[in-house]
Amino acid sequence: MKIPDGQLSLTLNTGDTIPQLGLGVFKVDDDVCEQLVLDALEVGYRHIDTAMIYRNEAAVGRALAASGIARDEIFVTTKLWNSDQGTENTPVALQTSLELLGLDYVDLYLIHWPAPLRDDYVATWLALEELHAQGLAKAIGVSNFEPEHLEKIMEAGSITPAINQVELHPAFQQRTPRAFQEPLGIITEAWGPLGQGKYELSELPGLVELAKAKGRSIQQIVLRWHLQEGVVVFPKTARKERLVENLSVFDFDLTAEEMDIVAAMDINKRVGTHPDDGNW
Ligand code: NAD
Repeated sequence: MKIPDGQLSLTLNTGDTIPQLGLGVFKVDDDVCEQLVLDALEVGYRHIDTAMIYRNEAAVGRALAASGIARDEIFVTTKLWNSDQGTENTPVALQTSLELLGLDYVDLYLIHWPAPLRDDYVATWLALEELHAQGLAKAIGVSNFEPEHLEKIMEAGSITPAINQVELHPAFQQRTPRAFQEPLGIITEAWGPLGQGKYELSELPGLVELAKAKGRSIQQIVLRWHLQEGVVVFPKTARKERLVENLSVFDFDLTAEEMDIVAAMDINKRVGTHPDDGNW
């Protein structure tokens, strides 16, 4: 896809590009989501991360249609919910998402959680491979997969996931799973890139000082760190001024020493659900 001037992108294992920064719409109610996505598109976002379970795909779809922006200039991700896993349910779920989004295809379709107790994620992956072959999902990937889950789908399937979307923020940097997946060409997406507001970023050692030295907000420093780490981010905000703030991270760099300051903030602090426990 065409990447907006000045923004950064990564190349997926399909050969397509993905804008490295987008907007996530978890916990954005359907009635405010349409305007939020329109605002985001207006200020320059071209990548939206939603999911069936967020119950706002229809609002995202209305915003995409109202924006008048060409389809191939916007990267849209949605995710398959756990109860839709399995050979028969998976194609129906994607069709429903496409109808809600008003799209012929998604740029990226993810299995939301492995849900290992359901024991259906391998069959689900094979179903995603089929949907990719049909052109309904330009790229396919997973979310919240641990290396053992990735190994199982790659053994059974013939496509390497383009993406694994996992919890990742300065206090929880996922070095071990990243060292497994990234050499395989699987790009890491960071959910909760700002820690979901579940801890005070300002209490991370050295972050306030670093932000002051760079003349940026602490959130901008964290987002810039993610970009330079080579991961994809889509911070969520419902406020227009923060949409602009979060997107304004392409005009400065962190030095190697400044990257090291953030790297040292990792205390293995998970704020969300462990992948083995996401069996809802
Ligand atoms: P996040 O880390 O993006 O944090 C969101 C919080 O940060 C909100 O409370 C918001 O008010 C605040 N915030 C955002 N920008 C700010 C700024 N500039 N200044 C001050 N505060 C700011 O957490 P998230 O929304 O959970 O994660 C981002 C996206 O990741 C989601 O919207 C969703 O698309 C995705 N996600 C995926 C999964 C998954 O299981 N795959 C789970 C959670 C989230």
